[in-house]
Amino acid sequence: MVRGFSVVAGLLAILLLPGCQPDETTATPDGGTEPEGAEYGLVIHGGAGTILRENLTEEREAQYHAALQAALEAGYQVLEEGGSAMDAVIAAVVVMEDAPLFNAGRGAVFTSEGTNELDAAVMDGRDLDAGAVAGVTRIKNPIRLARLVMEESPHVLFAGPGAETFASQFDLEEVEPEYFFTEERWEALQRAQEAEEVSMDWYEEEDRMIGTVGAVARDRDGNLAAATSTGGMTNKRYGRVGDVPIIGAGTYASNASCAISTTGHGEYFIRNVVAREICARMEHRGETLQEAADAVILGQLVDHGGTGGAVGIDRDGMITLTLNTPGMYRGHWVAGAEPFTAIYEDEGDGR
Ligand code: ASP
Repeated sequence: MVRGFSVVAGLLAILLLPGCQPDETTATPDGGTEPEGAEYGLVIHGGAGTILRENLTEEREAQYHAALQAALEAGYQVLEEGGSAMDAVIAAVVVMEDAPLFNAGRGAVFTSEGTNELDAAVMDGRDLDAGAVAGVTRIKNPIRLARLVMEESPHVLFAGPGAETFASQFDLEEVEPEYFFTEERWEALQRAQEAEEVSMDWYEEEDRMIGTVGAVARDRDGNLAAATSTGGMTNKRYGRVGDVPIIGAGTYASNASCAISTTGHGEYFIRNVVAREICARMEHRGETLQEAADAVILGQLVDHGGTGGAVGIDRDGMITLTLNTPGMYRGHWVAGAEPFTAIYEDEGDGR
């Protein structure tokens, strides 16, 4: 669990530090301190953006907290029972895909044509195995299809009709496109299209993407996994694919460093290869997960004008929830600690 430890020192640390809080530190053999991560746990997000208190009723806030809590419970139960990080992230993401509150699965945003085109990806930190789908229109839980791409095909990414042909070989729930209709997302499309008639800057101004979902986990065996699912961005054009199914941009996991799931303005996340960049900084520069996430989300991305956030968990069980927007629906539940959910930036990360 903790690098640089002798087995005896490691066992002693475990005996002396029941609970393994993610922000505890413990003595290293050279007399320094080293962060003590959680043995297992998961971190989730339900999208980042201009999420302001004045725009959310208390009732709405409570609905988001409840949905995040339900996703945490689904994922944590898998980990607690000794299940894999991959099973845990899928369980958490499916709960959020099924909730109309989030821009993924049921609550996906609309394209400029008034359709819903969904993207999803998974990655397994054990062996860098990955699977993704882009632009699917009839799959109830795209994250399950992404996993099938990883496990049942020699490929990494299937797009459009081909993804649905691949899906038809499996016992995967399909729905009519109307399943993805929600009044709120439809009205957001009308607003975006009206604004577009006035100014092309609407693309930057209008908050069109809140609600992408994602989860990262570390299991009892120390394996990491990441999963992300989205409807993309309101009023996106024909065939537009965001960062979510681009491995390394919106989704990445490697047991050598960390597992990351992102949310935000996808084009910037693709150009900055955000998820891999965070893990690469840990691997090559020796940064902690938080240092790497800060450098990329609060530094590099801001410098390029990209808005959004990321959640992550590393090989030692340390976690991050980092955002450069006023809000990100988010939460975590790690072994030895209570579950935490939050919406606004000023609520911090619960550690
Ligand atoms: N990153 C997603 C996309 O660009 C949107 C989001 O995270 O809300 O498709």
